[in-house]
Amino acid sequence: MKVLKFGGTSVGSPGNMRAVMDLISDGEQKVVVLSAMSGTTNSLVEISNYLHKKNKDTARIFIGKLESKYKEVLGELFTSDENKKLGLEVVRESFDTIKLFVSGTFNQVGENTILAQGELISTQLFALLMNENGYKTGLLPALNFMRIDEDKVADSQFIRNNIKAVLKEVGEADYYITQGFICKNANNEIDNLQRGGSDYTASLIGAAIEAEEIQIWTDIDGFHDNDPRFVENTKKIDRLSFNEAAELAYFGAKILHPQTVLPARVQNIPVRLKNTMNPMDSVTLRNAEPDGKGIKAVAAKDEITAVKIRSARMLNAYGFLKNIFEIFEKYRTPIDMISTSEVAVSITIDNTQKLTEIKEELDKFGTVEIDSNMSIVCIVGDIIHEERGFASKVFHALNGIPIRMISYGGSKFNISVLVPTTHKKETLQALSNNLLNS
Ligand code: ADP
Ligand code: ASP
Ligand code: MG
Repeated sequence: MKVLKFGGTSVGSPGNMRAVMDLISDGEQKVVVLSAMSGTTNSLVEISNYLHKKNKDTARIFIGKLESKYKEVLGELFTSDENKKLGLEVVRESFDTIKLFVSGTFNQVGENTILAQGELISTQLFALLMNENGYKTGLLPALNFMRIDEDKVADSQFIRNNIKAVLKEVGEADYYITQGFICKNANNEIDNLQRGGSDYTASLIGAAIEAEEIQIWTDIDGFHDNDPRFVENTKKIDRLSFNEAAELAYFGAKILHPQTVLPARVQNIPVRLKNTMNPMDSVTLRNAEPDGKGIKAVAAKDEITAVKIRSARMLNAYGFLKNIFEIFEKYRTPIDMISTSEVAVSITIDNTQKLTEIKEELDKFGTVEIDSNMSIVCIVGDIIHEERGFASKVFHALNGIPIRMISYGGSKFNISVLVPTTHKKETLQALSNNLLNS
């Protein structure tokens, strides 16, 4: 069986939903993972932010606007009055849930419950559409099988066991529809796989049911060699290995959620990237060694914070780095880049939830400086360190950019530089002009 995931734009209007229905209904049994209709999760985040700030009136206005938008969708999506009525019940139920949090208390679980409504609505409406058009459809409730553990890592064993049980319970169907993004956590509360997480849902399901292929359908024709949101003249990459795709996704290429590649790579399930707007085109990621030497693509990850610890005690001392790393470990904060000199070490993190506590402990080891609003720009390809002049080509391309940190030699697939986010676009453009398109 194949697993097909359709992103927000692909299901972003009644017309697009109908196009997805036509695309998938070829008689072959499959699991279809859907995101929320485009814009919905952003609106739900906005509503949650107002509720966190106790700005209930504004939250109410935004909820009203979103609900009206969905009511309009129903009129265009369904032909029969009966299905319009059933669709209205779906929309009502979700918005009643959201409205509960306007009058009641609001916390993280409340926010996660609100964020889940986008995928809950899109999948139920899509399943109704499929049924109205005579297709044998089964709706798989993701909250009954998708789970993350205390460290927010997907619980593969739980998913594997429970999706099989859910499939059995739902019974024979041609098209199984399920929600991307949403899951339960170790406390059995509603949670999610982070923004863009529907891609990850698809690969977790693919691995759990040992799918023959995972297809990620989106609004672009595959990985490009640079971020098309910031750079002009990006080019599609025709061949990309799992490792290269994983590096690019981890370092900000929005086309794929950063963790999507892992479950597929472990089981060697091909991941095919497809464009809903141009279904004949596709690019497949495989467990292959990268083909072709040199640089393939660049990507950028924002909201990075650099932490510099300067201490004379570092000079000629062993155990200094261990002490520093232990603090990050204690606060479960992953480190991305590291750069050291005789008397200082710079580290980057993207999760700043525990930054105050981390800084307090680091203060005992030396002077701590914190720079926020930084971006890691990652250059990916088969990079041969022995090749003379290679590093100079990269640095020549970055001439004039204020680089705060450099990571080179950690892996043969990646060179990373840290720049202020205000210089990100310029950095990406310079790399396209001087390295990728030259
Ligand atoms: P979906 O809603 O289908 O998941 P996303 O918006 O999450 O779609 O991802 C697709 C978008 O990712 C593209 O429209 C494009 O703007 C952006 N993107 C960023 N970097 C890249 C890249 N290197 N290659 C292709 N697309 C990229
Ligand atoms: N709807 C979620 C988001 O916008 C998940 C996804 O689209 O993958 O982040
Ligand atoms: Mg996405």
